[in-house]
Amino acid sequence: MAGPATLRHSSSLHALTLDKTRSIRTALLDWYAKEARQLPWRLPPVAFGAAPYEQYIDRLYRCLLSETMLQQTQVKTVLPFYEKWLKKFPTIVDLSNAPEEEVMAAWAGLGYYSRAKRLHQAAKHLVKEHIDGEVKVPTEPEYWIKNVPGVGPYTAGAIISISFDVSAPIVDGNVQRVLSRLLAIHGDTSTPKSQGSRLIWERATELAKCEHPGEFNQSLMELGATVCTPVAPNCTRCPLNKQCEAFKQLLSLKRERKDVFAKARNGKSAIQPSVSVEIENFCTVCPGSIDASVLPEKPEAYIQSLYPFKPAKKAQREENAIVLVIMRKHEVYLEKKEKGLLAGLYDFPTQLLSTDEDLESLLDERKRLLRATLSGTTMHLFTHIRRTSHVLKSDEKHAISALDDLKRKNITGKWVAIDQVPDIGVSELCLKNLRLATGSEGSSKRKAFSKPIKGSVKDVKKRKMLSDRTSEFF
Ligand code: SF4
Ligand SMILES: [Zn+2]
Repeated sequence: MAGPATLRHSSSLHALTLDKTRSIRTALLDWYAKEARQLPWRLPPVAFGAAPYEQYIDRLYRCLLSETMLQQTQVKTVLPFYEKWLKKFPTIVDLSNAPEEEVMAAWAGLGYYSRAKRLHQAAKHLVKEHIDGEVKVPTEPEYWIKNVPGVGPYTAGAIISISFDVSAPIVDGNVQRVLSRLLAIHGDTSTPKSQGSRLIWERATELAKCEHPGEFNQSLMELGATVCTPVAPNCTRCPLNKQCEAFKQLLSLKRERKDVFAKARNGKSAIQPSVSVEIENFCTVCPGSIDASVLPEKPEAYIQSLYPFKPAKKAQREENAIVLVIMRKHEVYLEKKEKGLLAGLYDFPTQLLSTDEDLESLLDERKRLLRATLSGTTMHLFTHIRRTSHVLKSDEKHAISALDDLKRKNITGKWVAIDQVPDIGVSELCLKNLRLATGSEGSSKRKAFSKPIKGSVKDVKKRKMLSDRTSEFF
């Protein structure tokens, strides 16, 4: 098939024939046996029912633990936590019997503390129902998704296929990327219900119907993590390059039509479909035409530009905030956020500005009122928000008057030793502001916080500061 086949193509491009399925499984499992990283949570397949029941409980505990820890966290960060956790809570029963404070303390430093809470609740549920209770642990994804706290379709698929060796798909970001490339699926994957996502789930389900589904799923994830990476897929060393449709398209593009993408981007020529397809066989999942702006200048970047489909990015909202760092000897004052973006975490008292508020005069007023000095400005990116924080510091001498002002506004919080701030459940933004105000990074081994932005309020204002939020306090 010639190069830019993603325009109009037959739906058979995304099909898994018997031969193709077989060759994908064989090539991938061979590669996995030889090349996969040795990670402590990897489990060799044990057919469901072939071993004592307790063994599957132990496997599911390890799987649930590693999958929970790996959510939004890199493998190298998780490794020491995983080992330490199993020393502290060797079995799911130990975890379920532990007091919540102990569980949260063991999680300290991993971030996203709600994961620890849900893991604890899941352990309690599983012990009550399927260890102390009479019903053996079910192997249907629906049961897990509906009844076990913190378990969604992905974790359910992981537990069922990896712990029990029972067929179930796993589609994480790695698998989504590999399958979209392997089967040249350019359909929308922006939500789980989008057409592209659904097709990928279907294909993952078909592929996992094999002798050792857990082993196969892990090999697919490993390939995505180490070879078929987001920006630089290593196709020449990939065990699936013979089966991969995106790679075939790239080779054909290199062979025949090197300049076609550059021309199309300049509007000089249209990309023509290279296959003639009966209208009733057209794929209805991928868009009928490609947005020329996603096409790369050079064919080398073809695969990563088109697969997987990337939805247009939402515009980022600008947000301005005044942050108050109140200090007392080696302590700072933090409040627990009850709502908003950082709900459940501790943070410095923060005032979000509305669009019509004049930042400069507001800052002057706060400085006067709280007898504070401006430490500087930090910039922090949330998914759709770019927040600029203007950090005011009130030293020990003036902390009391600053606190009095807070009390009048019904804000409550607590004093925390600076070196313990990273360990009590705070955001990276809080740590960034802490560093700016105190010059300290605390005792945490968390990555260095990004650098604060230098410059006066006027400089920052020039960067078109907008916010649609109203003031929360002061
Ligand atoms: S050949 Fe390239 S694009 Fe295809 S699966 Fe392998 S690494 Fe990914
Ligand atoms: Zn298609």
